[in-house]
Amino acid sequence: MIPVPVKNIARFLMHRRAWRFVSFDYCPVCDTRSMIVYSRELERWLADLTASWEAGEDFKRMLAMRENFLCVTCMANSRMRMLARTVLDLCGHATSGDLARRLCSDPLFSVYETAAYNIFRIDALKACPRYVVSEYLAPDRFGETIGGVRNESLECLTFPDDSFDVVINSDVLEHVADLDKSLEEVRRVLKPGGYHVLTVPVDYSLEHTVERARMGQGGIEYLKSPVMHGDTVRNTGVLVFRDFGRDAASCLSREGFPCLEMQLPGRHGEIISVFIGKKAA
Ligand SMILES: [Zn+2]
Repeated sequence: MIPVPVKNIARFLMHRRAWRFVSFDYCPVCDTRSMIVYSRELERWLADLTASWEAGEDFKRMLAMRENFLCVTCMANSRMRMLARTVLDLCGHATSGDLARRLCSDPLFSVYETAAYNIFRIDALKACPRYVVSEYLAPDRFGETIGGVRNESLECLTFPDDSFDVVINSDVLEHVADLDKSLEEVRRVLKPGGYHVLTVPVDYSLEHTVERARMGQGGIEYLKSPVMHGDTVRNTGVLVFRDFGRDAASCLSREGFPCLEMQLPGRHGEIISVFIGKKAA
């Protein structure tokens, strides 16, 4: 059995008032056997963040579960581990170490993640040119590297057609102004038969997805009160353009690019929705 890193224990002891031990588990985000904890600090932060939202308690409870159960090694939450696990299963790999070895050795295989707080946090991938990570950093200079991170807008990617086997979107598509353009761009840069693997928060009390804001001639127009999500890049948070409802999978599907929703049981009673789009071969 692979031992849990000693630094997990040290870190847990430092945070023992804020964290509750849950389990030891394999983390596919950082490719270690790790301690999984429930963070009371994060629970309080999420409760404060969502207190003013008009969303129902079931939605807030779902968010509180999927964003918690942290890996002590890499701080990935339950949703991120489920997203990573789904990518590994689709690619036929048992571990993210196997995925990293393939990415570094197979010139015909490539993966793109659309956010710098990325899913696969493995040192072996950092220098691999076929594992591409970007972030929306500036409204121009797309395709350039700024502060060590590639600057891309999901609405106008600079990659050639048919570039990637897998595109990963981790809670991004509720924040893009133009969902049509973003999905068209993901479809364009995927190779035929390639997978778009993503999560978005889904409010199952909503029959239909609700637009909260849109981009007008003079800038952002608010259709509902502004809601911001926490953001690891911008301290200001990031605006939510839409609340996905029970029709999320059809909202994320396009002709020749169908999307399926899978409601996957987490290890701690939580249910995580992961969406898989597939570009027609
Ligand atoms: Zn981890």
